[in-house]
Amino acid sequence: TSDRPRPLVAGNWKMNGTRGSRGVVEAVRDGVDPALAARIDVLVCPPATLIGAFAEAVAGSAVRIGGQDVHPAASGAHTGCVSAEMLADCGASHVIVGHSERRADQHETDAEIRDKALAARRAGLIAIICVGETRAEREAGHTLSVVSSQLAGSLPDGAAAADTVIAYEPVWAIGTGLTPTPADVAEVHALIRRELVAKLGEEGRGVRILYGGSVKPGNAAELMAVENVDGALVGGASLKAEDFLGIAAAY
Ligand code: PGA
Repeated sequence: TSDRPRPLVAGNWKMNGTRGSRGVVEAVRDGVDPALAARIDVLVCPPATLIGAFAEAVAGSAVRIGGQDVHPAASGAHTGCVSAEMLADCGASHVIVGHSERRADQHETDAEIRDKALAARRAGLIAIICVGETRAEREAGHTLSVVSSQLAGSLPDGAAAADTVIAYEPVWAIGTGLTPTPADVAEVHALIRRELVAKLGEEGRGVRILYGGSVKPGNAAELMAVENVDGALVGGASLKAEDFLGIAAAY
């Protein structure tokens, strides 16, 4: 219906891509025609080294560029880190926070992720806050409690539809070719929607909830048709313009 949030199809390149990959983002830019751009938002999140070049490549088009992580502070003695202000300065409009790979590899906590989302807001960026259960948590029947507690801990007070996106990414579905059933996706997205409305009031109805985990051109339409699925966060398939555009075309 017309009051559904505007969909967002976002690509997470992870630690892939070099300057030679510019042709991929140019092909995405050229593939997002005005009819598609009228229906959805399209975002590419490359490694930090490519944000500036990619932002130049898509300047003037409907495609947006985002980061994959951010430090909570604006500047200072944090060797190796990048601030939200720096991402914005390079032309980013969004940043992914709390991806499960960072929750696992960098031991990021919900409180740190919330601080990163607040940093994004401070710099005028949209934060894409990731949540999702592991295989062991799903098999133990803890999916809803895990997602609920990650959301409660990582969503900042005062979050708004204009500055916050939630991505539900079951860890066991990432890069595996496995996906939850539409009914399982519907159950988790309905929970996230209820909790967004409980915390943010009516504003919570406008916050986009993306599904991520092995989204491909062949399964995008089925997943995107699920109630409360307002777009996709795409890993592997976002590295090929044809596949990424095929997913966007599900809208
Ligand atoms: P995938 O990754 O599409 O390769 O499963 C999704 C993600 O980690 O965001």
